[in-house]
Amino acid sequence: EAKRGGRSTYRFFETSMNEAATRALQIQRVLHEALKVGYFSLYFQPKFRGSNSELVGAEALLRLRHPEFGLLSPMEFIPIAERSGQIIPIGYWVVRETCQQLRRWKEDGLPAIKVAINLSPRQLEQPDLITMMLDIVQSEQIPCEQIMFEITETVAMQDAPKTTDMIHKFQENNFEIAIDDFGTGYSSLAYLQRFRAKQLKIDRFFTSGMDECGPEGSAIVSAIIKLAHTLGMDVVAEGVETDSQLTKLKSMMCDEVQGFLLGKPVTADEFSKLLHQHTCNDLHLKLDQPAFN
Ligand code: C2E
Ligand code: MG
Ligand code: MG
Ligand code: MG
Repeated sequence: EAKRGGRSTYRFFETSMNEAATRALQIQRVLHEALKVGYFSLYFQPKFRGSNSELVGAEALLRLRHPEFGLLSPMEFIPIAERSGQIIPIGYWVVRETCQQLRRWKEDGLPAIKVAINLSPRQLEQPDLITMMLDIVQSEQIPCEQIMFEITETVAMQDAPKTTDMIHKFQENNFEIAIDDFGTGYSSLAYLQRFRAKQLKIDRFFTSGMDECGPEGSAIVSAIIKLAHTLGMDVVAEGVETDSQLTKLKSMMCDEVQGFLLGKPVTADEFSKLLHQHTCNDLHLKLDQPAFN
């Protein structure tokens, strides 16, 4: 009885492993033609200033829309693209597409926001990464200041001395760097200080902890914000989903906030509407101000 149960469990395990492997192979094939056929698109999630809720930027998030597989999550296809090396051309496409979008917004008279782009470990290993990024951004005539790159804490700490050099080179070229998903990996505080990254993004695990983990949950977030400020970094809270989280983050002087409560990732067209609204609000604010002298 037990033996049979064990065997069927094993068979089930084997079957699901095969299914996972088959799906990974299928996705790898899809990735192979995705750039040529145009399956990729970028979504943009808005980032707001904590103090006055001003729209200050966006994070570019990659999507893959396939006629048969539907909309695929980056959580599924990025690791596959990493393993196969396809992440390299895909990563350059993301930067070029972001720049082209920034140019369209500029041509439409919309404000010049900053866009954050995620980098994978494999990309960071490319010796000519920064040169390539500079080439793309300059050929699209976008100031480097408008582009920020996000490196996860875990990846950044894997070879911290190398990351330090890389961050400094990026920032010497006016690209800003953010440390993403902070707090869930192991960090060397000495290196966190040496990185001198522009931003620290608190992982959404801690943001949700402010509602779910009692006073300690909020104390941790407050401590991370103070630590980041002490080290000269701006702080972004990811995954803000409730009003109570937002209120607490504002009272803790969190510099920027990002999450479903404030805005989900949307297509470039939808994001344009946000930018338009924002520009109009700004204008109203200015017109509403009392005229001095
Ligand atoms: P990430 O960089 O930490 O991006 C944030 C993820 O959290 C996004 O998922 C976003 O949609 C999601 N998110 C934002 N606000 C909320 C919220 O309030 N609640 C919840 N539950 N989730 C929220 P997404 O778009 O599925 O991306 C997942 C990951 O895939 C990203 O995590 C990033 O590591 C990676 N990724 C996405 N685009 C790219 C890319 O162009 N290149 C590389 N290398 N990686 C990418
Ligand atoms: Mg990110
Ligand atoms: Mg993140
Ligand atoms: Mg993440």
